[in-house]
Amino acid sequence: MQSSRNIRLINLPILFDTLRIETLPADMQAKIARIDACLPQTQCGLCEHPDGCLPYATAIVVDNEPYNKCVPGGQPVTDAIAQIVNPASATTTLRAAPSQWPIDATSMRPTEVRAVIREDDCIGCTKCIPACPVDAIVGTGKHMHTIFTDLCTGCELCIAPCPVDCIDLVTIERELYISEREAEQEDLRLRYHTHLRRVTEQLADSSNSKPVVSMVEAKLNNAASQSIDISEAQAKNTIAAAKLRSKIKKLEKQLNVRPNERKKIELEGLKTELAQL
Ligand code: SF4
Ligand code: SF4
Ligand code: SF4
Repeated sequence: MQSSRNIRLINLPILFDTLRIETLPADMQAKIARIDACLPQTQCGLCEHPDGCLPYATAIVVDNEPYNKCVPGGQPVTDAIAQIVNPASATTTLRAAPSQWPIDATSMRPTEVRAVIREDDCIGCTKCIPACPVDAIVGTGKHMHTIFTDLCTGCELCIAPCPVDCIDLVTIERELYISEREAEQEDLRLRYHTHLRRVTEQLADSSNSKPVVSMVEAKLNNAASQSIDISEAQAKNTIAAAKLRSKIKKLEKQLNVRPNERKKIELEGLKTELAQL
């Protein structure tokens, strides 16, 4: 019978196919599930796994990656993972990776933050929307965007794509019972999976002309089309190719309306660059 701990490893989004978790021995799967259950599920990528918490949990078990890399989890999460990885020596655990935020005296984790858009400055470019792993941002093109603070995890992933730097982070204080934290993490995990499935559907929809703009979108695109191991470099190439295609389309449209020698040369250059990618 399937252990309840491993239920979290069933029916995973296609993004996680490359982890090949189902091919691992049962004891390794059980460890991955237990470690994943400890992780905050903000999917922030600060552990150097841009695809989120489950790939990091898998890397700890499969590749012996250090178990102290979860920045928002802080020392409590590092200690909890140490208990799973090596219960015999869990009294001397590694020091958790440092955070830019001070340690909260109650939770002993880095202080939590939430993102807030300065709405007067937002230009409605929509670039922050695909960056959010839990779909906490709403808005449409050329209109002001806003963030549902209750859904925001403070992962900070929307900050970098904003071209006008109008997203601020504010610290919050709150006390959570263990059961409340577990329920919240489970909810975030499921929200992320829903997000991944929705993006997968969008990418498969040939009438969807939106360019691929995030690392996760690029990886999903590749996972859906070829089911092979996707490297960071391949994902970056997919994004670069999508951007080039969109520039080429724009230039072709302009040249159809009015010939322009300089733009024609630029177009040829972009086509060569795309062919090389
Ligand atoms: S919450 Fe921790 S484990 Fe999850 S992606 Fe962020 S750093 Fe990695
Ligand atoms: S709104 Fe920004 S900080 Fe909040 S969860 Fe989404 S991407 Fe992360
Ligand atoms: S990326 Fe910045 S400017 Fe663009 S919609 Fe989001 S908050 Fe507004």
